[in-house]
Amino acid sequence: MRTVVLLGPPGSGKGTLAGRLATATKLRHLSTGDILRDEVARDTELGRKAKVHMDRGELVPDGLILDMVRGRIGGEDVLLDGFPRTLAQAEGLAEITPVGAVLYLELTRDEVVRRLSARRVCRDCGENYNLLTQPPATAGRCDRCGGELYQRPDDVPEVIARRYDVYEKDSAPLVEHYESKGVLKRLDGAAPPEHVYAQALKALGHAQA
Ligand code: AMP
Repeated sequence: MRTVVLLGPPGSGKGTLAGRLATATKLRHLSTGDILRDEVARDTELGRKAKVHMDRGELVPDGLILDMVRGRIGGEDVLLDGFPRTLAQAEGLAEITPVGAVLYLELTRDEVVRRLSARRVCRDCGENYNLLTQPPATAGRCDRCGGELYQRPDDVPEVIARRYDVYEKDSAPLVEHYESKGVLKRLDGAAPPEHVYAQALKALGHAQA
């Protein structure tokens, strides 16, 4: 197994898919969004620099992201979620590790806005919920660990719209980039999580676990 990249607009289900795929493929899951939120929570220098961009729904500068990722990959194969997001990041990644497959989760803008507005995340374990399609058993509490559910500050309508625009401008060109390299696999991001997972395993040549 080579490094696998999950590509797709915000809210297309990359995080949900990554959790399950990491177990099946034994690849280490690396989410740049999760790492950045942790840096912000710990009020590190990187966290302070990143927060300004994150709060606006804009991308954190490529140099900061590449330094952060370089220090965390170290030559091994990984499952990348939320990275690369620009062509410059893709070029930087190619120097760190070869990319074996890119799973592209396709989803329309309307569906992105609908999903993200209803997303809630556990403050303790990071589990994702959706108030419309996958609500917790007890309002405001995580089914898995009982932690408090919160709405990410960038999951509010104005910031969601901005994030989608940024995705279209900076990240959508990666589809063509990886297609031309022959590693892109398209998945229907609008399908239920179970089906997306099955499509992903098939695309990677894995039997259903
Ligand atoms: P995510 O959790 O993947 O939606 O990321 C949340 C926010 O973190 C994004 O809106 C960006 O501000 C920032 N971010 C995460 N990954 C990257 C990346 N690869 N490049 C630049 N900014 C990023």
